[in-house]
Amino acid sequence: MPLDIVPSVCPHDCPSACALEVERIDGRLIGRVRGAAAQTYTLGVVCAKVARYAERQHHPARLSRPLRRVGEKGVGRDAFAAISWDAALDEVAEALTRAAQRHGSETAWPYYYRGTMGLVQGDGINRLRHAMRYSREDLTICNALSDAGWLAGVGAKRGVDGREIAKADLIVVWGGNPVSTQVNVMTHVATARKERGAELVVVDPYRTATAEQADLHLAPLPGTDGALACAVMHVLFAEGYADRAYMARYTDDPAGLEAHLETRGPAWAARITGLSQDEIVGFARLYGRTKRSYIRVGYGFSRSRNGAAQLFAVSCLPAVTGAWGFEGGGALYSNHGLVALDRTLIEGLDLLDPTTRILDQSRIGPVLTGDRRDLGDGPPVTALFIQNTNPMVVAPESGLVHRGFARTDLFVCVHEQFMTETAAMADIVLPATTFLEHDDIYTAGAHTYLQIARAVLPPHAECRSNHEVISGLAGRLGAPHPGFAMSAVELIDRTLRASRLPESEGFPPGGWLDCRPSFANDHFLDGFPHADGKFHFRADWQALDADHARLPAFPDHVAVIDDGDPERPFRLVAAPSRSFLNTTFNNTPSSVAREGRPIALVHPEALEALRLGEGDRVRIGNRQGSLVIHARGFAGMQKRVVIVEGLWPNHAFEEGIGINLLTSADPGLPRGGAVFHDTSVWLKPA
Ligand code: SF4
Repeated sequence: MPLDIVPSVCPHDCPSACALEVERIDGRLIGRVRGAAAQTYTLGVVCAKVARYAERQHHPARLSRPLRRVGEKGVGRDAFAAISWDAALDEVAEALTRAAQRHGSETAWPYYYRGTMGLVQGDGINRLRHAMRYSREDLTICNALSDAGWLAGVGAKRGVDGREIAKADLIVVWGGNPVSTQVNVMTHVATARKERGAELVVVDPYRTATAEQADLHLAPLPGTDGALACAVMHVLFAEGYADRAYMARYTDDPAGLEAHLETRGPAWAARITGLSQDEIVGFARLYGRTKRSYIRVGYGFSRSRNGAAQLFAVSCLPAVTGAWGFEGGGALYSNHGLVALDRTLIEGLDLLDPTTRILDQSRIGPVLTGDRRDLGDGPPVTALFIQNTNPMVVAPESGLVHRGFARTDLFVCVHEQFMTETAAMADIVLPATTFLEHDDIYTAGAHTYLQIARAVLPPHAECRSNHEVISGLAGRLGAPHPGFAMSAVELIDRTLRASRLPESEGFPPGGWLDCRPSFANDHFLDGFPHADGKFHFRADWQALDADHARLPAFPDHVAVIDDGDPERPFRLVAAPSRSFLNTTFNNTPSSVAREGRPIALVHPEALEALRLGEGDRVRIGNRQGSLVIHARGFAGMQKRVVIVEGLWPNHAFEEGIGINLLTSADPGLPRGGAVFHDTSVWLKPA
């Protein structure tokens, strides 16, 4: 069979947005997927799960036709009968219309997230939402807390080019596990180690695969990273590592910060974090004496009730030492704010009515079960149209989520690639294309490229793209917007033109446009993106959200976490596994084989105290419920910490409900955000 190699872009919910080279066989099949060697962030490397994308693309369980449910909710494919696209779209449009006529348009809630990071196939659903005045969706589940923390100090969602990791003398991976979740970071770390003898520090509550490779691993208790960052800064000031000239020029209130930190030394932080004073001081000195120090800020430590404050505290470190000013120095949280794309056309922002209700996606459980804190005076949600996400597994407080989806008065349409556990609760299921079967444009968290990927395969069976489906519904619903009559490529080109960028045909070979700013701009040497041009040690949380600003102005440990009690002494972190990506890939054979089964990592001394042995079943619970899981002794963390990597399907657990049964839908401060790693639990022999 003839083989050709075609370019693409990984669409998955991962900062790397890898440039891909896809082996295409005979126009219909793919073989191996590789990283594009010429894209200077990807450098030819992709993770194993995407390298084996053929398993997912050609999986025998791919949805192939529109389906109407004729049996019980939750059963799966056997409860559905195939119907035509016209019949399916007619039925969805009729259900949305009937619901809106009965309760008002806000009763319908288009619900999506980052099953693709592509703007057209991901965020295009908002055009339908705004055109129809359906309820809006507050996208809090991943980055609301981390965005708030980063914006408080830096002022814009961008940081130093990820390729500069290779030029650093010290790399601090804080709250992330790139070996498992964004492998490209490790490519650049390896270069820095080989060419410069750079050191790697990892801050993470457990000894991850990345921490295994580190020169130094600090394992604070979950939710205490802010205290660690404060104590590090205390030492930087006290021992002469603070760059006072840099701070005088580039920061707002260094004297105020220094005075504030006086009482937040290593002894104070040791009590909160569970680290030793020696560990804290040793790290502070290493960081202080290394000007080319690059902090790769992960998401993990922001998934906590105090997550924004924690991330803000860490972002202050390079502003104290002046590391921002050096090549290979500074920090990166995300570069998704680097390219100012005009999203009006793709998202239909010209039709957005700011008076429409906005519902918090992380609180879909309370929303669907009628919590008035979420619904306000508005109508119940009686119609869901879902693309790109699997809330029956990924949303917190899944006991409530499952109850909500079980409602008989709730109409649900799910547009998906597989019969997920959310799709199994739907009335209508529509088969969706994969990224290899549609066109899209991608920004990236980890690098500076804007990338366009064209379809490399025809759609599988009767699958349609997200854009085609919302356009098909728009026609039936009478949603007025010119974007529905355009192709994905037209939407991309018009968006690029409105953003004063070259259109797709003008993109360099491979479809990658490097939008890297100048060195001075990248390193904020021409000022930080706040109105006063300064990095803010004194956060103006009010500016982010006046209603929810209850955080201290200076970096601090904010003791609002679920820190347990005698009945719930353990701190659970529901961390990402290596072979799954949220719930994507948790049905591909090699990923499932590698992960084995759901496992709780429990400290050996805690296991012994429970009289449990390796592999024994343990019941883990809190006020929201409990579940049974197999335990594995693991000493690479503090004794109070329990780790469950995932996300496994609910059906992988004995009682049919997974780890998010235990996580809370409480909104983190200052304006919401899921708190997946801020959960206290008890353990008992099962
Ligand atoms: S590392 Fe991330 S962006 Fe790259 S291929 Fe894997 S999932 Fe996709």
